[in-house]
Amino acid sequence: MIGQSATPSMICPPPSPPTLPAARPQDLPAVDRLLRQPPVAALVQQHGHSLVADQARGLLDGLRRQALDGSLPPAAVQPDSLAQALADRVAARLAPRLRPVLNLTGTVVHTNLGRALLADSALAHLLAVMTGPNNLEYDLHSGGRGDRDSVVEELLCTLTGAEAATVVNNNAAAVLLTIAALAGGGREVIVSRGELVEIGGAFRMPDVMASAGARMVEVGTTNRTHARDYAQAITPQTALLMKVHTSNYMVQGFTAAVDEAELVGIAQAHGLPLATDLGAGSLVDLAQWGLPREPLPQEKIAAGCDVVTFSGDKLLGGPQAGLLVGRRAAIERIRRCPLKRALRMGKLPLAALEATLMLYLRPERLAQDLPTLRLLTRPAEAIRAQAQALQPLLAAALAPRFGVAVVDLLGQIGSGSLPVDRLPSAGLAIAPAQKKAAGRALDGLATALRGLPLPVIGRIHDDRLLLDLRCLDDSAAFTAQLPALQAALA
Ligand SMILES: *Cc1c(COP(=O)(O)O)cnc(C)c1O
Repeated sequence: MIGQSATPSMICPPPSPPTLPAARPQDLPAVDRLLRQPPVAALVQQHGHSLVADQARGLLDGLRRQALDGSLPPAAVQPDSLAQALADRVAARLAPRLRPVLNLTGTVVHTNLGRALLADSALAHLLAVMTGPNNLEYDLHSGGRGDRDSVVEELLCTLTGAEAATVVNNNAAAVLLTIAALAGGGREVIVSRGELVEIGGAFRMPDVMASAGARMVEVGTTNRTHARDYAQAITPQTALLMKVHTSNYMVQGFTAAVDEAELVGIAQAHGLPLATDLGAGSLVDLAQWGLPREPLPQEKIAAGCDVVTFSGDKLLGGPQAGLLVGRRAAIERIRRCPLKRALRMGKLPLAALEATLMLYLRPERLAQDLPTLRLLTRPAEAIRAQAQALQPLLAAALAPRFGVAVVDLLGQIGSGSLPVDRLPSAGLAIAPAQKKAAGRALDGLATALRGLPLPVIGRIHDDRLLLDLRCLDDSAAFTAQLPALQAALA
């Protein structure tokens, strides 16, 4: 009973007395009567009986509880209020949980915010082939059964120089499948201690090896692994040599690693396959736009790797997918593994992937055609000019509680480019006018931004809320919401 006061009114002031007596439970209509009222009948007409009746029951149950404890305002039981409340509930029930947001975090390929953006041509292709039957697994030439891999295999081979290619649900699946197919059944996979990565979502290389039924044999040390380390670890049980791109961390200083070109020699001398997991795996050299360079799948194929795996929705700029390219013999073994069927790609991402890969046939147009690359290659000056144009508008909406300044920022590619590389960018820094309770004011502002019809996601750093404008393609989408933001903060 500690903490319970006999006289709560001394601690919480009593509510101001209502001008009218509270509504009683019997003032509420029965569900059927509510559904027959004209505006509600129109709602039923539009959405059908089940949904509207369900929401009507939920609404009336809530109101009845309020009426029982005497807190239901009489206006709430008026027919118009009930109809409006019901319409709001139905609309809320039908509102998708997955919604568009504005990514102003400065991280372009943001895993929590859906990674790569689909190109217009990919969306058009989805619309063209997904609203009716299609030849997903049907060979139009022979009139017989086809293979869904053939939708993208030739394109992937053309773009990477590989002999064969296959695709699965995501790159985590591609890595799991590669290891299971080439080294499952307790055989050994040799991997460097410097490459035992954990990427987001509890995907850790040692656990993946175990899940795939392989025995991991670690060689070298955290910072240095040499060719002889691999060679000395090979036994009759060895089935695979594996390289993993350390996409989200970097070992600096006194380091050594063995590249694929050198490992291929060791693998081939022992008749073993070599697989390399690139993670992001861009199909074009990003250095041509002044961006950090990522290893290219085609280089690893040229080096002689048997299997190269990479993601579809990181730098490739497509849908979630795991791409496997390599030598025919290894890809065939992977295709025959029963796990392949369990991890196979759906027809929607497959169609989007095909259209995305097509864009790479026109590399000169890529920075315009691929939205993720377009954002990555936006010049910092253009972003700064955009910030300068937005600053007075946002400042006016947030005055007098917050000040807004144009600032230079450093963003990042995200999802697997070297974490030490930064993208010069620009944006708006919002600081509370009062130092007192600044943290609370910023949290409130961040919450209000997330609560907008098109939620705005920024980042808080050093007592300021930063909005990096690199990914704001369309300023109007932001400015249109300023009145709503102002109202939310009032
Ligand atoms: C991102 C990543 C993966 C997983 O790819 P998903 O497409 O997210 O499944 C695997 N390996 C590396 C090195 C990565 O960076």
